[in-house]
Amino acid sequence: MKLKDIQKIFHDKLEPFFQLEEVDSFFYILIETYYKVTRLQLAMDRDLEVENEALILEALMLLEQQIPIQYILGETEFYGLTFKVNDNTLIPRPETEELVSWVLKSVEENKSINILDIGTGSGCIAISIAKNLPNAKVFALDVSGEALKVARENAELNQVAVTFINQDILSVEGEQLLEDAKFDIIVSNPPYVRHLEKKLMQTNVLENEPHLALFVDDENPLEFYKAITEFASHNLKGNGLLFFEINEYLGNEMIQLLKGNHFKDIHLKQDMFRKDRMINGVFTEQETL
Ligand code: GLN
Repeated sequence: MKLKDIQKIFHDKLEPFFQLEEVDSFFYILIETYYKVTRLQLAMDRDLEVENEALILEALMLLEQQIPIQYILGETEFYGLTFKVNDNTLIPRPETEELVSWVLKSVEENKSINILDIGTGSGCIAISIAKNLPNAKVFALDVSGEALKVARENAELNQVAVTFINQDILSVEGEQLLEDAKFDIIVSNPPYVRHLEKKLMQTNVLENEPHLALFVDDENPLEFYKAITEFASHNLKGNGLLFFEINEYLGNEMIQLLKGNHFKDIHLKQDMFRKDRMINGVFTEQETL
């Protein structure tokens, strides 16, 4: 079948749901992935044909059902690296790249430190940190065994060593995770969307991405942050850093939470959309009596 005819079908079927440019970008990324044909090649030879058109027509059907292109392709890009994703993991967001960049700025490149990522999902935070800090020992924890499968594949794909731990952070608070070591940095992007915020969300996020990674109770939106902050106070070294991605509406509550748990030098940071999206603080070790 000729690619230009497939492109026409894409426009006919998808224009009710997407902007014209978006339809083209889906089409071009799919022909490049499936048939290794670039946009330029097609522009130079509008009569190019492909053999196995079922592949791209199947993807079109999924796009019509509002399945995110990242799940259709099975991968996406984050912090300049390729990550596999499936419906057990969130699709990494650009805001989270800003969090990674903030963490990296706080460390000298060649320092050998211990870092833990809690609720790692696809592993995007832990793996991009490991890639950029070759001397760091990176650990990553998640409650979902299925997400950890994806994260392990991603560590291999990006050739970094990360120690993965399958645990529920809500049931380990108060414990020291590693018998003989504490962390210099703990970072987390836990679930933080309240059910009351559902109406503000895009349907394709709501219908396709894992709710386990997204939602918290309206009555206890900081459940994960409380557990992680408590956990961090047992697992961070003195002057260790805690970094969170946060719900844009809960910045003040987060400042109070960190203040109340022996953190100082607390900074709330906005993302590129000018939303309060990240916070960090320095752990002040309490003298034991
Ligand atoms: N930022 C994500 C969203 O808007 C939520 C990520 C999370 O809950 N940690 O869907």
